[in-house]
Amino acid sequence: MYIVPEKEIAGLMTREAAFDAVEKVFASMASGDAYNFPVVREAIGHEDALYGFKGGFDRAGLTLGLKAGGYWPNNLEKRGLINHQSTVFLFDPDTGKAKAMVGGNLLTALRTAAASSVSIKHLARKDAKVIGMIGAGHQAKFQLRAALEQREFEKVIGWNLHPDMLPNLQEVADEAGLPFEAVELDGMREADVIISITSSFDAILNAGQVSPGTHIACMGTDTKGKQEVDPQLLVAADVFTDEVAQSITIGEAQHAVAQGLIQEADVAQIGAVINGTNPGRTSDDQITLFDGTGVGLQDLAVAASVVDLAVAQGIAIEVDF
Ligand code: NAD
Repeated sequence: MYIVPEKEIAGLMTREAAFDAVEKVFASMASGDAYNFPVVREAIGHEDALYGFKGGFDRAGLTLGLKAGGYWPNNLEKRGLINHQSTVFLFDPDTGKAKAMVGGNLLTALRTAAASSVSIKHLARKDAKVIGMIGAGHQAKFQLRAALEQREFEKVIGWNLHPDMLPNLQEVADEAGLPFEAVELDGMREADVIISITSSFDAILNAGQVSPGTHIACMGTDTKGKQEVDPQLLVAADVFTDEVAQSITIGEAQHAVAQGLIQEADVAQIGAVINGTNPGRTSDDQITLFDGTGVGLQDLAVAASVVDLAVAQGIAIEVDF
């Protein structure tokens, strides 16, 4: 089997490779070739950690495995380690033998950014010029970098609960040579594309703060109880997701569904748009919303891609296992 350590991922994985891997696996999920296994997430009663597994099988890409990991809140303070820790394990679907063990921390950020980026490619208006960010933490930088590659954006605007974090967005805008402006939430009406990536448990953005024609990617809500936008926005929008079952239970759609404002059937898979079986955006004044909940197959797809790159470049550690 091969080992690809966390420290090698940055030098191997590109945003393009992550985008391709995630776009392909979303397409496979919609065509029924790939499915995610039920997620396990446990409070283990040690170090206040949350630990779990996200797994799946992609018959088209022949990727089988799981991401194991979670959140250790004391890591940074006690040990100087990052709090989110994960490792991806891949198995040979023909034999069940372990195939690879891959550092999953940076890959998680890249695959999450790739998901909203795929949604922008397939659902945002072609003439989108202003991108609005809600959230300015660790993931927000990855999200913005990937999104900027999808359209000829001319300006970045941003809002964050903690304004001291806004320089994170400024830094990415500077890298891309684009102006950055901090705005109030009402200012988001100027945005053609909005990405929300926060740890919020209450709606931040009202339906009235989103202009017709906007594409919004809600990326922060990945757990029961979390929320970033007004459920009325999901009524006003055409709603797409990575996986419908997750969207309506742990994703942004959980609230609108629980309140009876929309039904499961109102949420479509982004993969169907990629495959051309769902038309996606059909007018310039339609609001499209992507509920990115994060699925195990995304992790497996980017891990498989990085193993190929590591083997090709002679960086993968091979062990007789
Ligand atoms: P981070 O701690 O670096 O940043 C958190 C962000 O949320 C900051 O912008 C902060 O100001 C904001 N925030 C915190 N509390 C808030 C509140 N009550 N209201 C509004 N904003 C608030 O975290 P991160 O690594 O950038 O992750 C952001 C979120 O993305 C997390 O909730 C994480 O679980 C989620 N996430 C989702 C996926 C996915 O696949 N959908 C993948 C990875 C992370």
